[in-house]
Amino acid sequence: MKSIKNEAAVRCPNHCEPFDVEYWSLVSADQDPDLKAAIMGGELNLVQCPECGTFFHHDGDLIYFDAPAELLVFVFSEKDRQREPELLARMQKDYELIKDTLLKQLNMDYPPVSVFGLGALKEILQAEEKMAYESEAVAAACAAEGLQVVRLKPSYARTHHFPFYVPAPAKEKTANDYAVAASKVLQSGLNSLLLRNFVDRMSQEGAQLPQVL
Ligand SMILES: [Zn+2]
Repeated sequence: MKSIKNEAAVRCPNHCEPFDVEYWSLVSADQDPDLKAAIMGGELNLVQCPECGTFFHHDGDLIYFDAPAELLVFVFSEKDRQREPELLARMQKDYELIKDTLLKQLNMDYPPVSVFGLGALKEILQAEEKMAYESEAVAAACAAEGLQVVRLKPSYARTHHFPFYVPAPAKEKTANDYAVAASKVLQSGLNSLLLRNFVDRMSQEGAQLPQVL
């Protein structure tokens, strides 16, 4: 899916004359990594008033989508915070529509997330980046222990606070076998709360197998 730009008339915080701007209303992160970087840097939809020179963010609705990461975020305008129930209902409707049309071939099976404002989206992406770093450290520690790595379904890993990568059990493949393999990696000295949480959950009685890709 391609990123989409829209146009709108905006007014600066100093109440100068309104002026037209172009802004991103849909960011497809895997197609346009530079737009993702702009969100992280706080530059996305940053505009300057031609009259007084003030910089400000165009505070419009935005959809952020990263297909490989299984991350779909509806970003609502800060000023609409009190309309949250109505917006969430609309999001659910839009999501069903997008899922069955634009993104039909992706077979989306994870729910969207909603936030207010670009700052909150930036926080999500920062948390995501932190999780990715920790997951890479897990993968490296697995390799050092001579263990194969499997990739968990990203939306599943995110929801359960698991790393994106976990060691594969050598033979049997019950949930507890995953716990045993992951314990071995933790015992090698790796400090990972995500993997620790994975071990705790997989060693519980009646634990379901993890969702691997
Ligand atoms: Zn101005």
